[in-house]
Amino acid sequence: MEKKQFQAESKRLLEMMINSIYSQKEVFLRELISNASDAIDKIYYKALTDDTLTFNKDSYYIKVIPNKANRTLTIIDTGIGMSKEDLENNLGIIAKSGSLAFKSENELKDGHDIIGQFGVGFYAAFMVADVVTVISKALGQKEAYKWESEGADGYTITPFEKEQVGTEIILKIKENIEEDNFDEYLEEYRLKAIIKKYSDFIRYPIKMDMTGK
Ligand code: ADP
Ligand code: MG
Repeated sequence: MEKKQFQAESKRLLEMMINSIYSQKEVFLRELISNASDAIDKIYYKALTDDTLTFNKDSYYIKVIPNKANRTLTIIDTGIGMSKEDLENNLGIIAKSGSLAFKSENELKDGHDIIGQFGVGFYAAFMVADVVTVISKALGQKEAYKWESEGADGYTITPFEKEQVGTEIILKIKENIEEDNFDEYLEEYRLKAIIKKYSDFIRYPIKMDMTGK
């Protein structure tokens, strides 16, 4: 299977994320929940102008599923989803806003500000995960796809089965390394606290599902 390369700038950012220069790794969850919420907003606004779509608030939510046995943390949304091209264009290259993150050395020193200000968003997942899998089905598309990356050496996109429109992001949580504790991102109470801290204002329900325990 062909492995595609990230664009140079994305690769640099990704390497920074993998090496976790940021002190507050917990913000990865804020970034993923904010993307999930944006994706639900998109389907919501589409429904306002498209009569064939009805927006039923109950069927739009974000779900966070820690699984200690598999060492995975899954974030599911019922948003607009991504097509194969979207996966390629949105996750293979850093968002326009993100490229500003490289403006100056000073900014690089204050890591989490960059995340906040420039929305390097998605790549923050690599601070806590050594494999990131994105399974997505875009609104109006029959096919779903799986995007997968172990970091800076590239990513693959393959067809995948998914019935519901939306996105599922599976993080393979890193093993603990010396003083760096990653187990905490599989703990219900810890995840709840992070969500409360950063994502309290999100307009859609954020559910926690412990069935995978
Ligand atoms: P930003 O949110 O600032 O655009 P991100 O790096 O967080 O940057 O995300 C990049 C892009 O990937 C988003 O703009 C969006 O198009 C796409 N994306 C990320 N997560 C999702 C998701 N859960 N559903 C749909 N699209 C997504
Ligand atoms: Mg984002």
